[in-house]
Amino acid sequence: MKPSLQKLQKIFKLEAERGYDNHAVMGGLDRLLDHWVPEARADNISEELIQIIENRLHDYPRLSPASRAETLEGLLRRIQRSQAAISTDEFAEVELEQVDVAGETAESDDTAVSEPGGLFTESTPETPISPAPTVIKPWKGEPAALDAAVTVLPGIGPRHAQTLARLGIHTLRDMLYYFPRRYDDYSRLKPINRLQYGEEVTVIGIVQNVSVRPLRSGQAQLVEAVVADGSGALRVTWFNQLWVSKRLQPGHPISLSGKIDQYMGRLVMNSPEWEPLEQQQLSTNRIVPVYPLTAQITQRWLRRTMNQVVTYWGPRVQDPLPEEVIRSAELIGLSNALLQMHFPDSWDALNTARQRLAFDEIFLLQIGVLRQKRAWQERTAHVFETDEDWLGTQLGRLPFPLTGAQHKALIDIRQDLASGRPMNRLLQGDVGSGKTIVAALAVGIVIKEGSQAAIMAPTSILAEQHYKNLQQVLATLGVQPEDGSEPVPPILQDWEIRLMIGATPEAEKSEIRRGLAEGWIKLVIGTHALIEDPVQFSNLQLVIVDEQHRFGVDQRAALRSKGENPHLLVMTATPIPRSLALTVYGDLDLTVMDEMPPGRQPVSTHVLPPRERERAYNLIRNQVQAGRQAFIIYPLVEESEKSEAMAAVEDHARLQADVFPSLSLGLLHGRLRPEEKDDVMRRFRDGEYQILVSTSVVEVGVDVPNATVMLIESANRFGLAQLHQFRGRVGRGAEQSYCLLIPETPDAVENERLQVMVETNDGFILAERDLEQRGPGQFLGTRQSGFAELQLANLTDVRLIEKARRQAQAFFENDPGLEDPRHQPLLTALRRFWGDGKGDIS
Ligand code: ADP
Ligand code: MG
Repeated sequence: MKPSLQKLQKIFKLEAERGYDNHAVMGGLDRLLDHWVPEARADNISEELIQIIENRLHDYPRLSPASRAETLEGLLRRIQRSQAAISTDEFAEVELEQVDVAGETAESDDTAVSEPGGLFTESTPETPISPAPTVIKPWKGEPAALDAAVTVLPGIGPRHAQTLARLGIHTLRDMLYYFPRRYDDYSRLKPINRLQYGEEVTVIGIVQNVSVRPLRSGQAQLVEAVVADGSGALRVTWFNQLWVSKRLQPGHPISLSGKIDQYMGRLVMNSPEWEPLEQQQLSTNRIVPVYPLTAQITQRWLRRTMNQVVTYWGPRVQDPLPEEVIRSAELIGLSNALLQMHFPDSWDALNTARQRLAFDEIFLLQIGVLRQKRAWQERTAHVFETDEDWLGTQLGRLPFPLTGAQHKALIDIRQDLASGRPMNRLLQGDVGSGKTIVAALAVGIVIKEGSQAAIMAPTSILAEQHYKNLQQVLATLGVQPEDGSEPVPPILQDWEIRLMIGATPEAEKSEIRRGLAEGWIKLVIGTHALIEDPVQFSNLQLVIVDEQHRFGVDQRAALRSKGENPHLLVMTATPIPRSLALTVYGDLDLTVMDEMPPGRQPVSTHVLPPRERERAYNLIRNQVQAGRQAFIIYPLVEESEKSEAMAAVEDHARLQADVFPSLSLGLLHGRLRPEEKDDVMRRFRDGEYQILVSTSVVEVGVDVPNATVMLIESANRFGLAQLHQFRGRVGRGAEQSYCLLIPETPDAVENERLQVMVETNDGFILAERDLEQRGPGQFLGTRQSGFAELQLANLTDVRLIEKARRQAQAFFENDPGLEDPRHQPLLTALRRFWGDGKGDIS
């Protein structure tokens, strides 16, 4: 071993003896680096190893004794592994006492061994010793090399590449960013005589003998081996892995990791991970990465391949973060982070690595958002002033006064429309808070000046509902004033407002197209038909997108591109927790409507154990008798649309035949064609069906005020935010409404989550909880661009988000255009993160 490494080992050992008080070296272990690093370089120690040692020791004084121990043990193992990779000549010198086989361990001499785990190198074989490491073909032309296909790796041909592609791995970069699903901590190395039942450890020893015996059942086989170290011997078995018996060689040292089990009163290991000691240890004797797999790939293979990629390519990755950001945010380098994500030296190291990579995500998200916002603010837009008298008159024609929240939203929108910059606003209000009327008034402001507006909704039934509402507000005579004066005339004529959905007959569509192009249609309301169709506007100035998270980024951009910098208002009923709003919707101005129209009764919510289902049915019968209607919702089962439909279909049949034979039940599920769905919804809305059995497709904004019961089956499968959306489908009229949640099992602990629904009606609280419980991907769906890229960032980690935001902001103020040549790597990373042409997340 090189003198510089030997020295380090000695110091570490001394430090361990001192109980990790950081006094093994004068001034502390971090001070050692100044001298040691040049020595190590002179010794030709790999730069990678030096870096790791430097990084880990740098923080040493600030660590707790436990973390210090972990750090030094991790480094020791690291050093040993690096030695194993270099030298091949020490192997012969490994000496082990010969010991008796299994059972004698308790008596054997254990004085030779001293805790803690990683430091007892005298009594365990010095970690050896391997053939030369796999040499990866050098690759010229970095850093673009990371875009190279995985087939550039030795041992990966087209067949492996195909299998990897199923994991979404195509390039070397994909590989580097394919992170473990979890880690097994096998970093505790113990001598056999110290093993305890139930613990997860690593044992290093020599294979004594190997045998195979058929199990009684006849089909299966058991591989048995005895492994001994200087302290004792251990029986190890593998179930049905015949190949193991062929690879295990008596007399050779191996490393075993797994759980210590018991058999006939003796400690054993069953089906542990194992690898020959002369190989670099990737599956044992460390914190071991566990990757998501697919058929035809094994953990062992993937770990090995990954290790090649990470150790060779990791250090060659260009760090896109500017140095000053890395420094001021106190991050570790990207190469190091990637290395530690895959093969962490310690839990601390893993945590630091994860922090760094999560920071990258938020930082890139933020920079993108800031650029987007700036791009918007640089544009000019048509100015729409709103006359107070005009507005007063319009408000007078409504059947109800606006809520305070609606008033405030209107003030924001009026300001935006008059600003000369395109409005870019997110209007967020819980289900039933009355967003539609606000949208209608915004439309009024724009079209009274002769401009055009478009409203896009995610389903045709919803578009139709908006069409009716807006017709009511904009194209009918106002309510008769009490003083007997004339009612307010409408802003629009009937033919100036049109509906365009998939089912609109072609002849009518082409008339609408003509009307929009010629400018005599002022407002069009529709589904994505609006963007799929070659619709052109003569003067589109306002675009409104309802239930915006249902749309992809491209769809919103497509609609907006039909005008020239039109004002944009997006609406959502999903309350977005602050941390998330700041990051994902950072380019939008936010208006929150946090007040419900008066007179709403809170929905009475109950969690019922499955056996009390009959009570729910009784309630439905009573409500229907009183002239009301009910929803019964089924979850998506096993992610397949087919089985989802089946659950609802089967239960629909059962409910109709056995439970509600005298009632009429509609059925709605994802496999129906859009027209069929709309037809079912329409019949329900019109009262033809008393009960609607549905899968989650019913979730989005449909208004059936007569419905008073929302029964949700397998409620435990839904997120809270989604349950809240369902609940919002009822309680829209003046009648008392009910939301009944029936989980799959009566298990109180499992269903505790659902109790929150009973406790609060506040969409924000539920959303926060939901985000905590399910994570952001589930929370908003992955259609939100940029959002899908958040692999590691936890959007409930407000500290990290704030840090990344601050850094992004400061960076952006310095170089908003990313023009500094030193920032080119960041620009490249940004483009990759956002994908081509997807810089628009509004
Ligand atoms: P959402 O915000 O979920 O889209 P809607 O706009 O559909 O809510 O409004 C829900 C219901 O509340 C509608 O029937 C609407 O007519 C009614 N509404 C809206 N604003 C008020 C108000 N200020 N006072 C009374 N009812 C209102
Ligand atoms: Mg709505």
